[in-house]
Amino acid sequence: MPRKNLSRRLFLELFFFAVGAALVIAALITAVSYQTYEKDMTDSLLSRVEAVASALNQVDADYRVRDLSTLAVNDVRCTLVGGDGTVLYDSEADPSTMENHNGRPEIEGARANGESTSSRTSSTVGEDLMFAAVALDDGQVVRLGEEKRSFPAFVGSMLPAMAVGTIAELVVAYLIARLLVRRIVKPFDAIDLQHPSVGSYYEEMQPLVDRIDEQRRQLVKSNEELRRAANLRREFTGNVSHEMKTPLQVIGGYAELMENGMVPPSDVKHFAGLILTESRAMRSLVDDVLTLSHLDEGNMVGDDAPLVDLSQVVIRVSVRLRPKFEEKHLSTQLLEESAHSEEALVRGNEALLEQLVYNLLDNAARYSVDGGRVRVRIARTGDTVTLAVDDDGPGVEEEYRERIFERFFRVDESRSRETGGTGLGLAIVKHAAEAHGGTVHVEESEWGGASFVVELPAAVG
Ligand code: ADP
Repeated sequence: MPRKNLSRRLFLELFFFAVGAALVIAALITAVSYQTYEKDMTDSLLSRVEAVASALNQVDADYRVRDLSTLAVNDVRCTLVGGDGTVLYDSEADPSTMENHNGRPEIEGARANGESTSSRTSSTVGEDLMFAAVALDDGQVVRLGEEKRSFPAFVGSMLPAMAVGTIAELVVAYLIARLLVRRIVKPFDAIDLQHPSVGSYYEEMQPLVDRIDEQRRQLVKSNEELRRAANLRREFTGNVSHEMKTPLQVIGGYAELMENGMVPPSDVKHFAGLILTESRAMRSLVDDVLTLSHLDEGNMVGDDAPLVDLSQVVIRVSVRLRPKFEEKHLSTQLLEESAHSEEALVRGNEALLEQLVYNLLDNAARYSVDGGRVRVRIARTGDTVTLAVDDDGPGVEEEYRERIFERFFRVDESRSRETGGTGLGLAIVKHAAEAHGGTVHVEESEWGGASFVVELPAAVG
């Protein structure tokens, strides 16, 4: 679409409007001036003919023609009409050739009203004339006629002045239109796209300014988010490589010793065991990284996700973890207050929920003291299913309760590594809970240990 130019358009409209208005005003002035001209002329002619009439009234009828021909009214035409309409005297034509003048409007008007005026083209002299007539005492009528400018002639006489006026008007209209356009367009030009709401602008521009402002803010925000995401990714990659280095170095080191025959046959089993432990740690790390990267991609939990019975999940996980619980002589109260199955129903990704429960129970086992207690509770309140995993271990100090859900954050580094932690377990728990529209937080359990509370939306229907 071709762009419209606001300045150009405003300029043309203002300019042509001003010129149009000036032309209309000029026409009105001309019309009014012509009327004034006619009126002035009528008034002056009338007063002159009145003077002539009063002079003639003093004179005997027989001497009037003589008197008139000597009267110094040379710039006007003078006519004396007898009571019967015959022209007795005319200053510009021979009265004997002139027709009866009783029918002339000014003569008729003078007979009827004493005096009268009329304006027309005279048939006797063929010019545009203005007549003024006054009836004398004895029925004769005296008339003066003066050449009058016709309207076109009058306009013609005004043309030079009007031309000068119009040119001046064009120049003024051009300058004013330019000035106005500049002033009107200025707020548009002055708008600062970085800070559109600062500075003065038209009220009508508010929606536009708001929109620019909003979009700019969103842009800044999404840039910031992108930057933060990129930083997190870089940091995460760095951490993963760092975490992998240690087991790889250990594995490499022991394998080299064995290859060089520096490990006595009796110790080979021990070293192989160490290698196995490290490779398992690496395996866990790789698994956790993969799970997180799937979670990062989103869409692990669809809108039409199947029903999952959390209590069944807990039972399956505790079977898997039984050897660990027994090894640490833990007394477990799994699902002691467990709800009926239908109260533990959520919608979601069963494998992911199993991993969530596994990580929490695994942590409870790993951080509990020998012979400690572990308990799982599931309850539904309203639209929420709550799963709580309690232990009587060291618990999590207030200041770390947010941070332990960050990737690779560990309160006790050595404890985590000794027990085979990857530092990613709780990050996965948090991500998995959020992927299901839920939350997770940690509080102090009634035994003084940690209590991890996961809240998930209950399955409807
Ligand atoms: P890790 O593999 O190190 O256990 P997690 O992400 O599972 O990684 O946990 C992060 C940190 O949170 C742990 O290093 C530990 O300090 C703390 N933590 C997790 N679970 C518990 C618990 N049940 N009791 C006390 N501290 C815990």
